[in-house]
Parts: sequence; structure tokens; C-alpha cells
Amino acid sequence: MLSNSLVELDRAHLIHPVASWRGHEAAGVRILSSGKGAVVRDATGRELIDGFAGLWCVNAGYGQESVVAAATEQMRDLCYATGYFGIGSDPAIRLAARLADHAPGDLNHVYFTLGGSDAVDSTVRFVRYYWHSRGKPQKDQFITLEYGYHGSSTVGAGLTALPAFHAGFGVPYDWQHKIPSPYPYRNPLGSDVEAMIAQSKAQLLAKIEELGGADRVAAFYAEPIQGSGGVIVPPKGWLKAMRDLCAKNDILFVADEVITAFGRTGPLFACSEEGIVPDMITTAKGLTSAYVPMGAVFMSEHVYQTIADGAGQAAVGHGYTYSAHPVSAAVGLAVLDLYEGSLLDNGRRMGDRLQAGLQSLSDHPLVGDVRGRGMLAAIELVTDKDKKTQLPAASLPATRIFERAWEAGLVARAFAWGVIGYAPPLCCTEAEIDAIVERTRIVLDQTL
Ligand code: PLP
Repeated sequence: MLSNSLVELDRAHLIHPVASWRGHEAAGVRILSSGKGAVVRDATGRELIDGFAGLWCVNAGYGQESVVAAATEQMRDLCYATGYFGIGSDPAIRLAARLADHAPGDLNHVYFTLGGSDAVDSTVRFVRYYWHSRGKPQKDQFITLEYGYHGSSTVGAGLTALPAFHAGFGVPYDWQHKIPSPYPYRNPLGSDVEAMIAQSKAQLLAKIEELGGADRVAAFYAEPIQGSGGVIVPPKGWLKAMRDLCAKNDILFVADEVITAFGRTGPLFACSEEGIVPDMITTAKGLTSAYVPMGAVFMSEHVYQTIADGAGQAAVGHGYTYSAHPVSAAVGLAVLDLYEGSLLDNGRRMGDRLQAGLQSLSDHPLVGDVRGRGMLAAIELVTDKDKKTQLPAASLPATRIFERAWEAGLVARAFAWGVIGYAPPLCCTEAEIDAIVERTRIVLDQTL
């Protein structure tokens, strides 16, 4: 009864993000009521394994008491302190220091935001400020990757290359450019790592040339693994090659780790595993494990010092009311305790199990590709494995895969062109990982 009236209230009043508004009105909302570990419960009391950790964000799992306690205590002690006027709070300072300790290389300076989109936006502003400070304001062109996702703000949606984020909105801006994604499964050079890397380098150099040379290009952005584009894993060494090419051409390299950081691929930062130190890293999601909103920009020593010198005694005019919010920071500290405890190790072990389990689905007639790293994975469905024929969208809408998975007791992300994505909480048990794989096979069999 209560649930039915909520469905009607939702239909009448709540606008959902990235949804077909008409489709949602017809289908109605699925209401989640509670969660513990990797399991969520809907309003009817049905339990599902959350194979997507909400939106690749509840890395620590639901209902972690230490996180709840940290938030409660901080709200009671001091619910808010601005970062403006030289004011700060204990948890924000300690979180910045602890994160800087973990971040790759000299990414020693942390700027807190409310989530990933405004973290990306902040880097765009910092990149611009950096080049002004260096006396090169003409370096104002930005390059990103096809299949890339960098948020849904006006600027971030333009850096994003997914068509749904552009249609009807009139973005991207003319200073936002794309080069092809290193998509091994869909690239004829896919099995030749060296050739793929050489191809991407040539594509970046060609784009730089087209834009008038390196003296016009401000920054290149890449996700270490492209998440919302379909969990596209570049070949080993690709990220380092692109980072080095940017350094050689005096172009800033920004790694967007909003999904890949905080144990999602194994370590706290995917860049550490790749052996690279970007000029800036963006994060969000696992930073607070989604208990409260927060994002962060990690800034290298030279970017920080250049901007600081450029500004002199003037204010660097960028900030949000909720930058470095003390409750979010207290949650971040409690979540970091969990990562430093057993969570990262468990995530690594469960990640190996997930990847092996999904590989066991390769024999299924619909499975063309299985890919991922750690607790981030995808399977790509095709109608013809040799020709890699994508499923006709009309015969297999993503919503139908999502609905079948839900019926089977699994929350998994279905992408429009027939990719199923996985990002379970790092606290999963072996039995839960096995159930994710078993339930996926049920969905695939029903889809045949
Ligand atoms: N960048 C990447 C790589 C993302 O995956 C996302 C969100 O999924 C964002 C930025 C935007 O983050 P948010 O949704 O917190 O604004």
C-alpha cells in the first residue's frame, strides 16, 4: 500500500537522472529500502546481490557501522565548517593528508568537491589557470577519448563522448575534442599491444597537429579503464605511453579515476598499478563509498606551485560551499580505515574470482568478450562471435537485460549496445561472487 503510493508520488514528482522520462512513467520506480554488505532489499522484502555497488560507488558495502558512527559523531560535533576565509576542519585536513600519502608520486595537494562531475569541472578551471600562470593562455584546447565519460555538468558532458549526454543539449564546446578509444575487442589491431599503443599515440599527435600544435593544447583526459563507455580496458602500457607523450609535448595529463580509484581495480589508485604519475587525478564514488557525497582532485606539486605563484596574493577564485565538508571528510576517513584494514585485500581476492567466473561464461553463444580488472568487469554480447555482430538494439533493449537480472536477484548494469557491467562491493563473499556469475548465466540463457 505504502509502496504503491510511493510509486505514484515518484511518477508525479521525482525526476530521475539519465532516464527515459516517458519510459520511467510507464515502468514505475523500483524502491530499495535497505542494504547490508553486498545485498540490498527492495520495498517488498526481496533480496538482491548488488553487482554494481549502486553506481560503481558503494565500494565498502552497505551498513558499515564504523562509517555510520563517524558520520553521526561528526554531525553532532561540528556539522559544517567552510573552507573559505582560511577556516578548516579537523577531518578535512587529516583526510587530505592521508590521501596525499597514498596518492601516486607528488600528487600532494587535494581539492575536495561534492562528486565526480564537479571534480572534473574543477580540473578544467585549474588547467586553464595553470596555463595563464605560465603565460600561455592560448593553450586552451582539451582532448578526451571516444567512449569516455567525464560527468554530466555542462563542461564535463562536453568532455564526455557518449551521445546520450549530447543529444538535445547542444554540447560539446568547440574547445573539446575526441580521439578514438583504445577498445581492443573492436579494434582490428586489438591483439597486438604495441601496434595499438602506436596507433593511439599517432592519433593523439595528429589531433594536436590539427589543433595548431602543442602550443594550443591544454590537457588530455583519460580514464585508466573506461567505465560508462562499456568497461573498456586499454592494453597494458597504453596509459603510460599516453602520459609520456603528453609530458614530452608539455600537455597536462589528467587521469579520471572517479570509478577506478579506491580498490575498484585492486589498489587505491589504478594509476599506481600503471606506474604513472598524472598531473592531476579526479576521484569521487569510493572516496566515501557513497555514504555521503564527496569528490577530490589530486594535484601534483608543479601544478599547485605554478597556480599559487600565478595568483600571488590574489584569491584563486574557485570553490563550493560544500568543498571539504567535515561530515563527508569524517566518512572518508572511516572508509579509508576499512580500505587499509582488510577491504582492499578482500577486493583483490574477490576480483580474481569475479574475472575467472565471468571468463567461464565465454562458452555461452552470446558472449563475445569478457574483460575487466579486479572488481570492475563487463561481458559484451554479440549475435555472431566471428563477426562480432552487436545485438540489434530493438531485440535486446538494455532495460530487458536489467529487468531479467533483477528477476534473477542480481543488480547489474546493462549498456544499450549489449554490454553487461559489473562493479560489486569489495566486501563480497566468495558465495556472492559465484551467485553473480550463476545469475548472469540464467539471464543469458533467457536472452538466447
Ligand atoms: N568521471 C567518471 C570517470 C565517471 O565515471 C563519473 C560518474 O560515473 C563522473 C566523472 C561523474 O561523477 P558524478 O556522477 O559523481 O558527478
